[in-house]
Amino acid sequence: MDDTAPGPGVATCPQCGTVAPLPIHYGYPEPQHIRAALRGEIALGGVVHHPDPPAFECRSSECGYTFTP
Ligand SMILES: [Zn+2]
Repeated sequence: MDDTAPGPGVATCPQCGTVAPLPIHYGYPEPQHIRAALRGEIALGGVVHHPDPPAFECRSSECGYTFTP
């Protein structure tokens, strides 16, 4: 394991290898989150009650894999 944790935007989808996955925003989206999502900068995870939700969503529309690096 590499001990340098990847920051947002530098991770790679473990499913398909697409780089720069979208950070997932959780909770009720504010207008700026919706605008960012429409620009393709983030993904909206909605309100979840998962104890450890995934941090990223693959930006490939065919993949859509969610994961935590
Ligand atoms: Zn993927």
